[in-house]
Amino acid sequence: MRESKPKKCMMPSCDKETFDKKAFFCREHTRVFESFMSTAKKVAVVAVPAAPLVAKVISRKKK
Ligand SMILES: [Zn+2]
Repeated sequence: MRESKPKKCMMPSCDKETFDKKAFFCREHTRVFESFMSTAKKVAVVAVPAAPLVAKVISRKKK
């Protein structure tokens, strides 16, 4: 059985919890991510589904 524990921000250097279960990042990093998407909408198409993947790769690298 899986516990519904609070999700942590996917930024490797960040240890905050996400404000929403669907969110990948904490409130602060979500704002950074969203502002990045709005300024680079071409990248957004790739960035949205890739966000958890990229964070995974980054955090794996760090280990
Ligand atoms: Zn964060």
